[in-house]
Amino acid sequence: MKVLKFGGTSVGSPERIRGVVELISDEQPKIVVLSAMSGTTNTLVEISNCLYRNEKQEALHIIQNLEENYYTVISDLFKTEEYTQKSKQFIQTTFTYLRSFINNIFYPLQEKAILAQGEIMSTTLMHYHLEECGIENTLLSTLEYMRIDKDCEPDYFYIQQNLQRELAKPNVKKIIITQGFICRNAYGEIDNLKRGGSDYSAALVGAAIKAEEIQIWTDIDGFHNNDPRVVENTKAIRHLSFDEAAELAYFGAKILHPSSIQPAKKENIPVRLKNTLCPQDEGTLITEDSPIQNIKAVAAKSDITMINIKSTNMLLAHGFLRKVFEIFESWKTPIDMIATSEVAVSLTIDCIKNLDNIVLDLEKYGIINIYRNMAIVCVVGDFTTDKNGVSAQVLAALSEVPLHMISYGGSEHNISVLVKDEDKKKAMIDLSCKLLS
Ligand code: ADP
Ligand code: ASP
Ligand code: MG
Repeated sequence: MKVLKFGGTSVGSPERIRGVVELISDEQPKIVVLSAMSGTTNTLVEISNCLYRNEKQEALHIIQNLEENYYTVISDLFKTEEYTQKSKQFIQTTFTYLRSFINNIFYPLQEKAILAQGEIMSTTLMHYHLEECGIENTLLSTLEYMRIDKDCEPDYFYIQQNLQRELAKPNVKKIIITQGFICRNAYGEIDNLKRGGSDYSAALVGAAIKAEEIQIWTDIDGFHNNDPRVVENTKAIRHLSFDEAAELAYFGAKILHPSSIQPAKKENIPVRLKNTLCPQDEGTLITEDSPIQNIKAVAAKSDITMINIKSTNMLLAHGFLRKVFEIFESWKTPIDMIATSEVAVSLTIDCIKNLDNIVLDLEKYGIINIYRNMAIVCVVGDFTTDKNGVSAQVLAALSEVPLHMISYGGSEHNISVLVKDEDKKKAMIDLSCKLLS
């Protein structure tokens, strides 16, 4: 069985929804994971923000506009009175639910419930549309099987047991439509896998059923060798390894959610990136191994904070780094890059929720300096033993960009540098021009 995930633009209009139907309506059994229609989740975030600020009129206004957009979609998508009415009723109920938050005190969990409505609407409309076209399908709520634990990590055992139970039920059709992004948390409340999380949902579903392949259908012809939003003339890469794709996704390539490779790698399931706008394009295949190439791709992640800890004592004395790591662990803050010297250590983080507390704890060990608005630029390729001097080429390509940290040797696939956010674009362009063209 295959798992096919369609992103926001792929279900973003009646025309695109019809395009998806063409791609999924063969006889092959499959699980289809859908994102919300493009723009919907952003709008639901805006509604939640208005509710937090108690801006009731503005929230109502945005809800009204979004609801009207959905009626426009329905009148184009559906041909029969029966399915037009069914869909309108469903959308009406959803928007009545959204309006019900207006007069109550707003708290964070309700935001999760509001954000979930985007995927609930896209999957329900797809389910009705397929039925109207005479294509048998089952709408399976992801809330029946997708769960994260107390640390917000996927509960693999629960997901597998519950998904398999749902799939074994009588009358489940060959085409199963389910929501990406949404899940329940350890307390059974509605939660999500963070923005862009539908890729992660698809990978988790694929791993749970040991799928033959996980396909991520999006609006571009595969994984490009640099961010096409920043750099001109980027090219699709035909083949990446799990490790290469994971590094690129983690370090900012928006085409994949940062964690989405991990479940596929765990079960050794090929991931294929495909373009809904041009299905005949080859796309990108991601598997355990891939052809070796000195430098394959560049990705970058903004909003990075660098923390420098400086001491006049012998800083790196036995046990020092353990204490530093423990502070970050106790505040549940992952570290991305690290560089050490005898008298100082620098680390980077992208989650600054607990930064003040981390700094208070670190101050016991030295003088702390914080540098905000930094970016990690990550170069992925084959650096095994650096036989061709690839790291020297990377640094030479970046000779006009001030570097604040360099990380090499953590894996055989990655050289990362830390630059100021304002220098990120130049670093990405210089790497493309000098190493990828
Ligand atoms: P979806 O809504 O289908 O999940 P996304 O917008 O999340 O789509 O991801 C696809 C977009 O990712 C592309 O349109 C492109 O602008 C952006 N992107 C960033 N880096 C890359 C890259 N290295 N390769 C391809 N696309 C990338
Ligand atoms: N709809 C969610 C978002 O916009 C999840 C996704 O599209 O993957 O973040
Ligand atoms: Mg996405």
